[in-house]
Amino acid sequence: MATILSCHPAEEPFRVYAWMSGKIDMPEERLDSIFSNAARAGISGIYLECHGGYPSILDSTSFRDSAALTILRRAVPVAKKHGLELHAWMWTTNRCEETLLQAHPEWYEVNGLGESLADIEMYNRKHYRFLCPNHEGVAEYLKDRVRELAEVEGLDGIHLDFIRFPDAILPYGLHESRGVVQDKVYPQWDCCYCDECRAKFKAQTGIDPLELDDPTANPEWMQFRWDAMAQLADGLLEEIQACGLKASAAVFATPEEARKLVRQDWVQFRHADALLPMIYHTSYAQPAEWIETATREGVTALAAAGNKARLYSGVSVPRDGDFAGRIALARAGGASGICFFSLEAFFRHPEYWSQLQAATAAL
Ligand SMILES: [Zn+2]
Repeated sequence: MATILSCHPAEEPFRVYAWMSGKIDMPEERLDSIFSNAARAGISGIYLECHGGYPSILDSTSFRDSAALTILRRAVPVAKKHGLELHAWMWTTNRCEETLLQAHPEWYEVNGLGESLADIEMYNRKHYRFLCPNHEGVAEYLKDRVRELAEVEGLDGIHLDFIRFPDAILPYGLHESRGVVQDKVYPQWDCCYCDECRAKFKAQTGIDPLELDDPTANPEWMQFRWDAMAQLADGLLEEIQACGLKASAAVFATPEEARKLVRQDWVQFRHADALLPMIYHTSYAQPAEWIETATREGVTALAAAGNKARLYSGVSVPRDGDFAGRIALARAGGASGICFFSLEAFFRHPEYWSQLQAATAAL
């Protein structure tokens, strides 16, 4: 039974959430209409993206993210009006502000070829710029971003996305479309070999990771990177909670895949109120049933580690509108809730609102 695996009582209501991209130029009537539909469809809360890959205001004299603050300040009263929780969804180690790139190019991760993400466009993505968790200053910079978002009155939580290393291996269903061969880890996608990380690891182990023939086969080097990211993540989650807000993170699909693909040991994100593994099954070339399996792996791993975070299965909006089927899979895997990616699909398919409403009414 799923209830045996879940560390939360069966009587606790199963929650339904959705991610949505925040736009600074979205008219209030539009936002009102979307949130009204969402609430009627049985959604409890929205994770609203307020600093994505293409921030609306790229340059200012400070690092303060005014666009993100404006997006949130406009959305909070509308969410309250409809009884929705509102969580600020921020990109975390993947930062796209030009001001930061100019001020601290040394903060970015470096791949196994010695190339910095401040200089190259990994996977041909201009926004693919990840900060090194070991660099002095990075954690404090990100805590500043958390604290400024927390100033927004009425916010329910802050949600960390991209709290990980770059993809050493992309999820398997994406290799063909991205034109990559990743049958193993190759140095151009394997990070962080910056001077700081190399020196720190060498001081601990006597090994320069750049000299390892097969870096992935070295358990200490893997653990070093898992720990560095988990420590950064946990510090930020703790900061969110210290601001009186719910702390959550979007993480890779299963604990094992997260460690392997993006050096993300999310079971160790101990100050999370909720963790949302992104179980986008098609990206992993898996059938929808994998949602249940992957959810169970996460729930079991959290319980085994004594991590009390709730697990909400992150799933793609089902094209055929079978929301009830997705919810059933997440519940069977022991999740405390589900989160759909993303509400934009509902804009293109308004019939989804009533289909989701029918599914949540049955909960
Ligand atoms: Zn580094």
